Amino acid sequence: MIFLIYNNSYPSGGRMVNLSSSIGNDQQLRSAIDPRPTLITAASHFYQLGWMVGTAGNLSAKQPDGSFWITASGCHKGQLGSKDFIRIAADGRVVEKPSPESRPSAETSIHQSIYSLFPDAKACYHVHTIEANLVSGFTKEDTLPLPPLEMLKGFGVREENPQITVPVFVNHLDVSRISSEICDRFQAAPPSVNVLLIRNHGITVWASSTERAQIYLELADYIFRYMVAARQIELSTTSIKN
Ligand SMILES: [Zn+2]
Repeated sequence: MIFLIYNNSYPSGGRMVNLSSSIGNDQQLRSAIDPRPTLITAASHFYQLGWMVGTAGNLSAKQPDGSFWITASGCHKGQLGSKDFIRIAADGRVVEKPSPESRPSAETSIHQSIYSLFPDAKACYHVHTIEANLVSGFTKEDTLPLPPLEMLKGFGVREENPQITVPVFVNHLDVSRISSEICDRFQAAPPSVNVLLIRNHGITVWASSTERAQIYLELADYIFRYMVAARQIELSTTSIKN
């Protein structure tokens, strides 16, 4: 009997799979690397942080066949179950939904765009944080300059005094328009860090694993909180001077 322990990019932990019964069985192999437990844990954590309140946000993870599991529309992100996900093919078709009433989020097209643009992306996380919305208003341009903080190293930025910007997109009511603008812009020039903002809406990150996507969200949140705090100090200093 052959056993294999999967313990790679999915922090749900090692899972022992009996290969003698699963070889050639695509369904079992897929379930052996099912990212849904990881996404449930991450969503619950983000909900506790206030990043996915009111059913907001969506998390996804790509499967080896190019499809991806994504949180279904309208689900409470603090109480997700495995039925609250939909599996979407690379071309956008719904290929699996454990609950007949489940609907894909309108923002699924953004995840689809990210996976098509960046083949190495294995996870895409989109949440609504207060600081992401505040900093998106710090510029009228379509890029937001970030302060040269040490935390940027977490994104792989290895420069002294780095001048990094984050792309900012318009929050069109028609989400497919946002996806299409993301595709157009990133095909012309990919961003220097795996982060994008939709103005007055939220933040999206993508990464080579679910763990790294969570780290990117945490890093971006730290930087955005720093920017908001720095702006508050500037404002209070200005008001004292006046
Ligand atoms: Zn959103």
